[in-house]
Amino acid sequence: MHTHCPYCSLQCGMTLQREGRRLEVAAWPEFPVNEGGLCRKGWTATGLRGHRERLTTPMLRDRTTGELRAAGWDEALDLVASRLQELQQESGADAVGVFGGGGLTNEKAYSLGKLARVALRTSQVDYNGRWCMSSAASASNQAFGIDRGLPFPLADLERAEVLVLVGSNLAETMPPAVRHLDRLRERGGRVVVVDPRRTPTADRADVLLQPVPGTDLALALGVLHLLDARGLADEAYLAARTTGWDDVRRVAAAWWPERVERVTGVTVGELHALVDLLTSHERVVVLTARGAEQHAQGTATVLGWIDVALALGLPGRPHAGYGCLTGQGNGQGGREHGQKSDQLPGYRMIDDPAAREHVARVWGVDPDDLPGPGRSAYELLDALGRPDGPRALLVLGSNPVVSAPRAAHVADRLRSLDLLVVCDLVMSETAALADVVLPVTQWAEETGTMTNLEGRVILRQQAVAPPAGVRSDLEVIAGLAQRLGSPVPFSDDPEEVFAELGRASAGGRADYAGIDYDRIREEHGVFWPCPSPDHPGTPRLFADAFAHPDGRARLVAVDHVGTAEPTDAAYPVHLTTGRVLAQYQSGAQTRRIADLPDTGAFVELHPSLADRLGAYDGEPVAVTTRRGRLVAPARVVDTIRPDTVFVPFHWVGVNQLTNDALDPSSRMPEFKVCAAQVEAVARAARPSPGEPVEVAR
Ligand code: SF4
Repeated sequence: MHTHCPYCSLQCGMTLQREGRRLEVAAWPEFPVNEGGLCRKGWTATGLRGHRERLTTPMLRDRTTGELRAAGWDEALDLVASRLQELQQESGADAVGVFGGGGLTNEKAYSLGKLARVALRTSQVDYNGRWCMSSAASASNQAFGIDRGLPFPLADLERAEVLVLVGSNLAETMPPAVRHLDRLRERGGRVVVVDPRRTPTADRADVLLQPVPGTDLALALGVLHLLDARGLADEAYLAARTTGWDDVRRVAAAWWPERVERVTGVTVGELHALVDLLTSHERVVVLTARGAEQHAQGTATVLGWIDVALALGLPGRPHAGYGCLTGQGNGQGGREHGQKSDQLPGYRMIDDPAAREHVARVWGVDPDDLPGPGRSAYELLDALGRPDGPRALLVLGSNPVVSAPRAAHVADRLRSLDLLVVCDLVMSETAALADVVLPVTQWAEETGTMTNLEGRVILRQQAVAPPAGVRSDLEVIAGLAQRLGSPVPFSDDPEEVFAELGRASAGGRADYAGIDYDRIREEHGVFWPCPSPDHPGTPRLFADAFAHPDGRARLVAVDHVGTAEPTDAAYPVHLTTGRVLAQYQSGAQTRRIADLPDTGAFVELHPSLADRLGAYDGEPVAVTTRRGRLVAPARVVDTIRPDTVFVPFHWVGVNQLTNDALDPSSRMPEFKVCAAQVEAVARAARPSPGEPVEVAR
């Protein structure tokens, strides 16, 4: 059975085959995105099947003992529906919130948004993809009029002459994609990595620039300054295909190279060399990822790099352009079909009367009955249990106790709820706080579509039956909708839901109307937009026009402001966070897979900083921010800036340190940088490998 990896947005194709009672992962060489390659997470993905911690029974928290007890499905769903209705009768429709995830299939994301708007009639719905790459989405919508992570197939990268990766550690986050970098370099191409750390990706680069965390926008402005000052911008392209260049060059005029060096640490010589490299080749690709995007100025930072790409005349040119490397498995599709607070299916905006009319007609409801926009993900969590906030929350496919910024505060908000309902495979840290836990299927046990980082809609196919007692998220949603007295039916059949999603998306920016399961199987995925069954799909965007009504791209003038929490005498070090190869996101799945090493959190720091602190490799250090304190073993490496420490975020406690300052446009929190103190602590405090790190607030 051909299917796809359950984790990241590459959505590598794989074959699942039975070996006796075991389910084994094998290669699927014909699937073009990964050509049979998988990273260790993909090869070990069946490790959760039959896992002793797998949930197989609904659980309700006993009001007397405070403990969770097993319950039947009817009892659990009846209780959830009746409590939600009571709370809404007392406090209004927005007393109930819904929190989804960027790993949910398109069908689940669509049904969850419909459940919120039609059955619950709440505006309070959002999802953790808001924390993944919403800044790139916001920037792409502003610049190009459409948000598709890569506007070209991933394989186009290897035909580029220069690839610039801003804040991406592709080698550790998407190893099968690295072959494109290697092939590009074998053809004589050059790779530039912009990252405060010399990562395994940087080891494969020809040029590494290590700016101060939070200054990627200043670097982009420096590039724009030199393009203009040296007369190297593509003026013909700018005149024919864009608007806004004059505004951008006015801002960039103030970013002379010496100022850029002072702010970013990238020298004047390095900046000139970068501009020389970019302007001496036709086929240049600029890609951003979380390093550039997860900032309070994330949207502006991405816009700055899009401005660079447009000033060079790249978008729309073959094997050139700008793209974003989406993170979560369905980070792309998850933001297209209605689980985001401001959107309806097809990437329609919920405050657009025509969009409301269209979607309401497909759903069979009155458009006036649809709620308006709600709170963004962090703002929704921050409002829980407050006088004007939701009193109940339904969580699918997310573990915010680990993954939210200022996570201890988020856990407190979750504890303040009258009702927390969590659907999950295992007892995640968020499920452990719930009043009701509902056990749901995992990827190999279900069918549904995902949309990978290229905008390719692919099909996850059920390979095995779920354990007895487990239901799919679609069954849970349909069961709740029916109990809530939804005015329209909800299907729990994924193919039926996908067909409805296609109708709801028809005519929208992300148009899936021409895609069906058989086409996906036959064509190894179909690129949206695909408005009709006879449409071939759209692997490449922007060749002739951008998606704004006038067909032109917008250069948007943005200026560097700096991080929301600059370093100071009390908190003198930059803390940045990210991923490691063997773990994925909150680790709820990968930390339980025996074949994946679980090291626990660690603190990467430069030898000169370690010397100053009296810290030693492997010995505990404490990282303290204005929100919390974490003790974890030091990893002394010369690959990081001396003014910066790095901690991977897959473990409880790390995000208790991170800052909840939000980007004004995307509402993305500033995960990537905050101010910290670091100190060596006594050996006795050192955690054992795999043991939760000590966290004090
Ligand atoms: Fe591919 Fe990502 Fe899965 Fe690794 S985690 S196998 S890169 S989809």
